[in-house]
Amino acid sequence: MKHVCQRCREALPPKRLAVLTFMHRGNERTDSYFFCSTCRIYNIKCDYEHFSGEPETYFLAPVSQEVGDRHIELIRQCPQPRDEYCECGTHQRWSSGLF
Ligand SMILES: [Zn+2]
Ligand SMILES: [Zn+2]
Repeated sequence: MKHVCQRCREALPPKRLAVLTFMHRGNERTDSYFFCSTCRIYNIKCDYEHFSGEPETYFLAPVSQEVGDRHIELIRQCPQPRDEYCECGTHQRWSSGLF
């Protein structure tokens, strides 16, 4: 699936710069970070697995390069970013929505 930047609508590079799977309100959610070099912003794709119902994919509001870099730095500190049951500080932060 091809993704476009939420601001300029240009195609985003396919490479995800960071990925984190975590539990959010009892459902599994995976956030993927894509950088738009035109806008210098991060687009965050959100894949939501509902335990009941269809999976859902949507984009969060884009974040600045500064904010996105900080998120990615935190995600890199996690030993298992694809494990939604990981209990590291990054996972706790994302699961509680405090980042
Ligand atoms: Zn853009
Ligand atoms: Zn973790």
